[in-house]
Amino acid sequence: MTTMLAMPKLSAMPNATPDPTLPAEPDRLYRAVTQRDPTFDGLFFTCVKTTGIFCRPVCTARTPKRENVEFMRTAQQAMLAGYRPCKICRPTEPPTDAPPWLPELLEEIRTGKAIRERQVRERGLDPDHVRRVFKKHVGMSLAAYQRSLRLGDALGSIRKGGAATRAALDAGYESDSGFRDAFERLFGVPPSRAKHTQHLTAGWLTSPLGPLLTVASDEGLCMLEFIDRRSIETQIEAVRRRTKLPVIPGEHSILAQTKQEMAEYFAGTRQHFDVKLAPQGTDFERAVWQRLLKIPYAETCSYSRMAKDIEKPGAARAIGRANGANRIAIIIPCHRVIRADGALCGYGGGVHRKQWLLDHERKNAGLFA
Ligand SMILES: [Zn+2]
Repeated sequence: MTTMLAMPKLSAMPNATPDPTLPAEPDRLYRAVTQRDPTFDGLFFTCVKTTGIFCRPVCTARTPKRENVEFMRTAQQAMLAGYRPCKICRPTEPPTDAPPWLPELLEEIRTGKAIRERQVRERGLDPDHVRRVFKKHVGMSLAAYQRSLRLGDALGSIRKGGAATRAALDAGYESDSGFRDAFERLFGVPPSRAKHTQHLTAGWLTSPLGPLLTVASDEGLCMLEFIDRRSIETQIEAVRRRTKLPVIPGEHSILAQTKQEMAEYFAGTRQHFDVKLAPQGTDFERAVWQRLLKIPYAETCSYSRMAKDIEKPGAARAIGRANGANRIAIIIPCHRVIRADGALCGYGGGVHRKQWLLDHERKNAGLFA
């Protein structure tokens, strides 16, 4: 049973817009759960706010009340939102045809054991085979699975907001070493000090492309990043290091404004952002980010063109790196940078998201007739 997720009143959390990648409306999904409808298995997961556990739609455990559930498209999203896999329906495992070592390995990871390539080899397993099996059956890599479990508690505390975190701290959940370690590693301060220290504030918002982490100081927004981005821990650490402040879950007017403006952006009704920005980087990085902010909605620019504009013609590569170091996704529109030949090239949040954002902007700018 998980730690702080078991107790704070998650249902008190403001209800986010349902994820449009879900296979149906929430009420329909709930009906599938009450009927244990096998046609939905693998298409979504049921997260129970009161227990902090997530299930397959076909789980035979007692059906939770409608107001206590929320739905997630993938097991990884559920884990990063702070939910733990149910031990009855085992939502991170395949219904059939998985190799026999997989449930054992998953169980070991669940109990806190770190499994790396060496441990895989010690079991007489081939790492390449393990990689393929994880991708196919668990839907994510072995590393992503462990990372999602590890980060779940701490990131989940952001999602629930400052009040829930404080409630958990007051109730003594910080004495749970798993939560305490996860919290401290991610936010740079032990939970017991979190209430009092001068800090940056972290929040959570949902989008059609998955949840995003937001971090702000009184000066402005410092971070807006997809939660499942592989480097999320490093990104948080970089912001902490630059500001010399820990990051604490909570509410902040900058975060509220960001949430509102992002909702409008995704609804297609906002093309420019007004929220104050406080990006943390070197002088060069900040110059590149300033240039990024000048790329108009629905348009694109190449690295070499940007290099010319900031009068550093040989700097295309360095600009690429500064682009990659951008921690304020979408608002500082690094997704609008493409290769000179028009190819999309990389994006920290994944190329599929970059494509989605560019299509979304072109559609709403009226560029698709
Ligand atoms: Zn279950």
